[in-house]
Amino acid sequence: MTRDIQFVILSVSEGSMFTRLFNQSYHSQRGVKHSLLFEGISLVRHRDGRYTAGMGARKAIAIIGGGAAGFFSAINAAQLAKNKGLSVDIRILEASGQVLKKVKISGGGRCNVTHHCFDVKTFCQNYPRGSRELLSPMQKFQAQDTVEWFKQAGVRLVAEADGRMFPDTNSSQTIIDCYLDLVKQFQIQLMTNSAVTAIEVLSPHQLKLKIRGKDSFTADAVLVATGSSPAGYRLAESLGHTITELAPSLFSFKIKDPLIAGLQGLSFSDATLKLTLPGKKTFKQTGPLLITHWGLSGPAILKLSAWAAREMKHAHYNGTLTVNWMGSEKSSDVENRLKLMKEENSKSYLKNVYPENLPKRFWLNLLDKLSIDRDKQWAKISNKDISKICHGLVATQLNILGQNRYKDEFVECGGVTLSEVDFKTMQSKVCPGLYFAGELLDVDGITGGFNFQHAWTTGWVAAQHMVSPPTPH
Ligand SMILES: Cc1cc2nc3c(=O)[nH]c(=O)nc-3n(C[C@H](O)[C@H](O)[C@H](O)COP(=O)(O)OP(=O)(O)OC[C@H]3O[C@@H](n4cnc5c(N)ncnc54)[C@H](O)[C@@H]3O)c2cc1C
Repeated sequence: MTRDIQFVILSVSEGSMFTRLFNQSYHSQRGVKHSLLFEGISLVRHRDGRYTAGMGARKAIAIIGGGAAGFFSAINAAQLAKNKGLSVDIRILEASGQVLKKVKISGGGRCNVTHHCFDVKTFCQNYPRGSRELLSPMQKFQAQDTVEWFKQAGVRLVAEADGRMFPDTNSSQTIIDCYLDLVKQFQIQLMTNSAVTAIEVLSPHQLKLKIRGKDSFTADAVLVATGSSPAGYRLAESLGHTITELAPSLFSFKIKDPLIAGLQGLSFSDATLKLTLPGKKTFKQTGPLLITHWGLSGPAILKLSAWAAREMKHAHYNGTLTVNWMGSEKSSDVENRLKLMKEENSKSYLKNVYPENLPKRFWLNLLDKLSIDRDKQWAKISNKDISKICHGLVATQLNILGQNRYKDEFVECGGVTLSEVDFKTMQSKVCPGLYFAGELLDVDGITGGFNFQHAWTTGWVAAQHMVSPPTPH
């Protein structure tokens, strides 16, 4: 199977690097009768004097962003090209001097690579934005594939009780080393300190990248995987894409209340939260809760912040949080429990006998907040006080004063508008040859490995299509 060289030449603009090099190469090798090799394209001369390009046509793929999505896509593109016997020039262009910076600090230095949930529909329910669009790419490459991919690459991922999966070394460096080894093995060009400042469309599937302080470069396919960097959003906009409203996601709440004062570090394994924003919009979440120096955090709060990211931004991070510290226990059950406690411990002091799932320091703060004497005996507690304690346990109302980005994981909500991207290929519907993957898209997940899985999945799908798009009929 051969491709007509005229087609190749016509597909790049006159005066492009390709045309200049072709002419140079052609003139310097005029003596060659049957074929010549130009930049990886084998040109076959026919009897009628025409040249055609052989199977070895070398495709150029540029990956903008040396982060999670960029690396995964580049490596998979190289793997696929190798399997198909295709010659592909793949470059990763990274603005800073260091690649995979977020992978390094992720999961507290352990890298929560993915989540142990292999049912695609259930998995996708963990994305406040993008859950519907991710269904198709996840059918092709999901968490189970990630586990297998890493196994093939020599990295074993282990699940924790809550479903989060980490490398068995418990070190993000394992993931980084794995990627750097593969980049070397596949001879992918890694260009650091190479910020892409502009992309010019020469013709469909011919995109010229301007790189700060370096020569420009023309590619057949360009993947923008710039995470939440403003420069990446500007590149997408310059090519006709729109960026949805940006807002932080995965943050903790600033709360000042005597109930939690001085209790930083205390955690509750299962709390029920209800967030009420001005205008009465509500969000609910259950899960582990952590008291911090500045308020409340932990998985339940981070998840709530993700579901309500845009609404909380509009509310200037003010609202009311109603907490059931007893998990999902109903008010009537808690009240009965307290009454039984009174019956069975009538001679004991309040400060010494309390529901077993509560930390003592929290119980004492609660009594103080409700102005109930902790040195009273249970026998002397009125039913009214029992109701007050019960209300404090299942429906404490706390005022949210602001947000705080927790050190463990945060992402940006918002990005490239999803309807402008074909999720079967991750190709732009606006600019042929342009692809997107990772956090730059208007997709974000809750905490637990879902954000990396989105980066792996979209990077993988883009790689398949960039290397070998289906041949048009
Ligand atoms: C502290 C922290 C911990 C986290 N922990 C986890 C976790 O354990 N599990 C999880 O699932 N998620 C975690 N996340 C989220 C996860 O890191 C991101 O979702 C993920 O890194 C997104 O990958 P990406 O490739 O889209 O973007 P990034 O990883 O941010 O990579 C983008 C890259 O593009 C480069 N770039 C930007 N503009 C340009 C340009 N113009 N030219 C060239 N290069 C450019 C940037 O320098 C950067 O290196 C964490 C996030 C943070 C901040």
